[in-house]
Amino acid sequence: MPKSLNNDAAGVLPAIAGKVVKWQKVSGRNDLPWQRKRDPYHVWLSEIMLQQTQVATVRDYFVRFLKRFPDVAALAAAPMDEVLGLWSGLGYYSRARNLHRCAAQVMELHGGSFPPTAQLLQTLPGIGPSTAAAIAALCFGERVAILDGNVRRVLTRVLGFDGDLSLVANERELWRLATELLPRRDLIQAMPRYTQGLMDLGATVCKGNATCELCPLETLCVARRLGQQQRYPVKTRKVKRSAQSIWLLWAQALDGSIWLSKRPSPGVWGGLYCFALFEDRAALQAALPADYQAALLDAPALTHVLTHKDLYLHPVQVLLPKSVRPSSEGAWFAAPEWPALGLPAPVRKLLTQVSGFPVRDGASR
Ligand code: SF4
Repeated sequence: MPKSLNNDAAGVLPAIAGKVVKWQKVSGRNDLPWQRKRDPYHVWLSEIMLQQTQVATVRDYFVRFLKRFPDVAALAAAPMDEVLGLWSGLGYYSRARNLHRCAAQVMELHGGSFPPTAQLLQTLPGIGPSTAAAIAALCFGERVAILDGNVRRVLTRVLGFDGDLSLVANERELWRLATELLPRRDLIQAMPRYTQGLMDLGATVCKGNATCELCPLETLCVARRLGQQQRYPVKTRKVKRSAQSIWLLWAQALDGSIWLSKRPSPGVWGGLYCFALFEDRAALQAALPADYQAALLDAPALTHVLTHKDLYLHPVQVLLPKSVRPSSEGAWFAAPEWPALGLPAPVRKLLTQVSGFPVRDGASR
């Protein structure tokens, strides 16, 4: 028995899969838009969107994406700007860039069909081991374990697994145990429901504040028995947060157009259209011809939270004739053009304030 596995857990391993499968059938989520067909394109799209994002937000985005890109061929053929435009507001834009690259590789290397094993799926851009396993288990019934953040929480609690997951050896051990918990080979047809069940448990029952009385694993769960749900998962190394102040030149022309330039990738908001950015106000001011420097107007500052960083944003407004270019790269964009552009959430929010330009629900980054 591994050191990090609570002694009490050893006997419960075989019973877990059956309970999860039974529970999922009755109490799990079975009506999500990407569950209607077990189409790998749909499942892949939803899995990527669901990373760091709630189901309630993803629903609308998923439907919009499918309407515009009904299959992987349509997505691969679309311009990247259009993909980023549709993604706008979902945040973590590297996911959208990888989505596009992945679609292109599925077309070029796999004849337009997602490969049917987790091992091959992992070779595609933006698909990590847990996402690959989820697609393979849900669509192809492969007997492979998933281990995303939600599932990690469920399993460490049920098993009383107190190994520090900052250490690779412990993470590997938890994967091994997750594999041991999978439905037996003679019950392999239960793989999709078991996989979905674990995801549903983590998302709806075994949350930060666990509602153990609704959980099918309550009688088996070590953390529940010890009253130590909050102890798991154990991860000592925390991500270090940083902070950055940025000045945004919010330049508007007399006809209402806005000056936007495409951000370099990689980097904050890479590939998205944004106001010109500056490290301080003096640099922003110096970018304008002298005639306009006195006309700058400071808008209220806002804080924008990224995964590892807090951004303190200082928008500065100015009205300019279209003959003035506020930065070397960029162009004037009229209001009807904005919805199709990939815009960072704070820029979208600022534009909404002046024009009623729509911000999508749930937009956070
Ligand atoms: Fe999580 Fe409670 Fe279920 Fe244990 S019993 S898996 S802590 S919800």
